[in-house]
Amino acid sequence: MSPGSNAPDDAAEPIEQHDTGESTKSNDADETTEPDSPYTLQREDGNETHHAFWADDVADSVEARDPEEPIVIKGGISPSGVPHLGNVNEIMRGYFVAEVLRERGHEVEQVFTGDDRDPLRGLPRTLCDLEGNLVDLGEVNAGALGRNLGSPYTDIPDPFGCCDSYGDHFSQIIRDSAAAVDVPIEFVSTTELYENGDLEEVTRHVLENRDTAREVLSAYQDKVEENGEYVPFNPICEECGKITETVTAIDLEAGTVEYRCTDMDAGDQTIEGCGHEGTATLREGKLPWRFEWPAQWQALGVDFEPFGKDHAEGSWPSGVDVAENVLGIEPPVPMVYEWFTLDGEPFSSSAGNVILVSDVLDLIEPEVLRYFFAKDPSKARDFSVERLDLLVDEFDRFESVYYGEVEADEDETAFAERVYPLVVDEPNEDRIRLPYTFAAVLGMTDDPELREEIARREGHIPEGASEQAIEDALARVEQARNWARRTENEFDYELKRGAIPDHDFDETIETALAELADFIEEGHGPDEIQEEIYETAKRHDVDMGSFFGAGYRLFFDEDQGPKLGPFLAKVDREFVVARLRRER
Ligand SMILES: [Zn+2]
Ligand SMILES: [Zn+2]
Repeated sequence: MSPGSNAPDDAAEPIEQHDTGESTKSNDADETTEPDSPYTLQREDGNETHHAFWADDVADSVEARDPEEPIVIKGGISPSGVPHLGNVNEIMRGYFVAEVLRERGHEVEQVFTGDDRDPLRGLPRTLCDLEGNLVDLGEVNAGALGRNLGSPYTDIPDPFGCCDSYGDHFSQIIRDSAAAVDVPIEFVSTTELYENGDLEEVTRHVLENRDTAREVLSAYQDKVEENGEYVPFNPICEECGKITETVTAIDLEAGTVEYRCTDMDAGDQTIEGCGHEGTATLREGKLPWRFEWPAQWQALGVDFEPFGKDHAEGSWPSGVDVAENVLGIEPPVPMVYEWFTLDGEPFSSSAGNVILVSDVLDLIEPEVLRYFFAKDPSKARDFSVERLDLLVDEFDRFESVYYGEVEADEDETAFAERVYPLVVDEPNEDRIRLPYTFAAVLGMTDDPELREEIARREGHIPEGASEQAIEDALARVEQARNWARRTENEFDYELKRGAIPDHDFDETIETALAELADFIEEGHGPDEIQEEIYETAKRHDVDMGSFFGAGYRLFFDEDQGPKLGPFLAKVDREFVVARLRRER
């Protein structure tokens, strides 16, 4: 197995993409102003008492607002492409706070917005179908995508043809991801909020107060200051369907704006406008993201929202300013979470460094994944698929600490006692967990009876265990086997039990194998067998590589394999002995 890469992340890519084309500048607001800091968990304040679980600290802050019921917790994402594990961060962080508040007797609603009226600003190189298979842009109807650059995601045809739109396609995967980790979210389409008129009042208010809006935003964005004509509303061109940026007149009495369809600056390219001049209602367009986010807080009554650190430096400070000084509302309780990396690298669907929730759940139990997201959000960490065994081991220990089966210090115990019931659906003291790498060894054979027999012999299934507990425990074998295949690690071998593979050994090797069989027949442990393999080869003056190679050929029909001694010690002795004697 490779040593794994648990390097801390120093450069992570934002997992949300909002108005990436906009130019930003540092705000001149007083950054030391305490209430505006979204680093609520990162602060080192000695005089506050902290709970064992961070979500309890956040819940305290939410309660301190004296919120109306139901308390609303929000997350959101622009459904711009492959929604990966990083996006689930936001769903799970919100979930734990929601659960803690529910425990405290509050009614809580967890909403998640698909910010799907955002325009497509560039062609993604990689997409994925509803099953989570990554697909190159060239394999889908990319022409339609190219023609729709600049249009809202919900107005672009689904390149896979299975959903109503591009936006719906990727929103569906996010909903499926939340369901897979058993988090009940109310998914809200921002396009629908506009179309239903839920954002009309706040849009009207922003336009009525556009001078104030311009003044507030100009502290954060150069282009606003330079453009005296700046209007915080982007209509959709009725001719070409693109989001436009040039409003020429406003008629609030009629609830309409006049626009000209001009070019849109999208990072390193320009999306051409069609020049059309037309009229749009306040439902036929969108607020720029810096206003749309606070507008969502108002329309949905948001009390708490976690977000990544890209927003902490960008749209959070301006959002607070807009909320307080343009909309006259209190911004929600914020919480910045650190991004995490995937095997030491930032998530990147174009570079293929991406994993979907559905993939992860082929490898580990949902409770293990939920545990990963229960850990302190203010610490950067790595999700290592290569060393997934370490995460599972950590979870198994966390579980054992909860049941008081292993020694742990005060902090670890307090965390386990508080968090375990939030991570596991139905705590069951009689559960059985096979160590993950051991499960991977069992995964080398297809034979369910042999898997169970080895697990019993190795002491991982106690006497009197229930059928159900055994079945649940052995389910991990399939996951560990998927892991071995995905990472092609040292467990990625298949025991050829049915028939002896074709082989051609010389007489010396055959004699040496027979001698090794006699030794194993006597009954020895893993290290002794490993040692004896070396000794036998030496005694017969057989090349070490050839001798191990013979073993791998006989058991796996391969040139290489796992550490042979410990492996042979785990498989049933009768079979191993017969195979070494080449009898079956
Ligand atoms: Zn679809
Ligand atoms: Zn147009």
